[in-house]
Amino acid sequence: MRDIKYQQILDEIKGRVEPLYGRGQVADYIPELRKVKPHQFAMCLTCVNDKAQYSTGCAEKPFSIQSISKVFALILAASKIGERVYQRVGIEPSGDPFNSLVQLEHEQGFPRNPLINAGALVVSDILISCLDDPKTQLLDFVRRLANNSKINFDASVTDSEKKTGFRNYAMAYFLKSFERIENCVDDVLDLYFHQCSLSMSCSDLSYAFLVLANRGVIMHSGDKILTPSQSKRINSIMQTCGFYDQAGEFTFRVGLPGKSGVGGGIAAIKPDEFSIAVWSPELNKHGNSVLGMHALEHFTTATGKSIF
Ligand code: GLU
Repeated sequence: MRDIKYQQILDEIKGRVEPLYGRGQVADYIPELRKVKPHQFAMCLTCVNDKAQYSTGCAEKPFSIQSISKVFALILAASKIGERVYQRVGIEPSGDPFNSLVQLEHEQGFPRNPLINAGALVVSDILISCLDDPKTQLLDFVRRLANNSKINFDASVTDSEKKTGFRNYAMAYFLKSFERIENCVDDVLDLYFHQCSLSMSCSDLSYAFLVLANRGVIMHSGDKILTPSQSKRINSIMQTCGFYDQAGEFTFRVGLPGKSGVGGGIAAIKPDEFSIAVWSPELNKHGNSVLGMHALEHFTTATGKSIF
């Protein structure tokens, strides 16, 4: 098979997407995210076979990973309680915005999937029930996956969401009213707001997602976190539910399982081959990074490496 010139491809992609600055908007419903400089771009690829990393733009610059953290919480929950996670949250795309309350009312508080806010709140609840110190353990877990002990929560983002995340408060109490949450609602929200405020670079994210490209095994340590089947399940949920109500279009244009966040990050993987992370803060109307989606589309087109 021809040798793919990843570094050259990433640099070319940067040049192709930068003219798209200004086509989206930085998330402004979380006041702290409003302060992020909009015209920034980074991309980082990590390969499974030789752990080689290729990057372009500000790939070492940490940003708020927001909903990408839902994947880490899900991996940790699945590693603790296995298939029982899916008795608490569904596996179907929602087709609604990530913070919608409407569907929950119709479905007796059973969240459609673990990657929308309702599902992520239930996953937080699961972690609180099965861990002694969930916040610290989740942070340690993410540091372990990314092989970077400096990763941390961004306290200003946590506080900003605590002061303004009224819809998440409403959702958590709503879930509690359906007895979908076992623990104290404030504890569930505290863990959820913290995980969303995790600050990581594209290089960190790409490395951390490698576990899902490597069938549940951490590459650098050989630790088995998930069974191949558990890893497959999480990848399939990312494919169908990872991009808000634009998951179909992401699959159509990019063709990789992944997850985006309103901080402008996207992480995606190709099983047995690579994980890739991209960041650019300006979002389209669905909440996905404008440059990020274009960059990944160019990447899978140039390399022929989508899962389809
Ligand atoms: N912390 C954000 C919220 O709950 C996460 C949104 C996202 O990235 O999808 O609203």
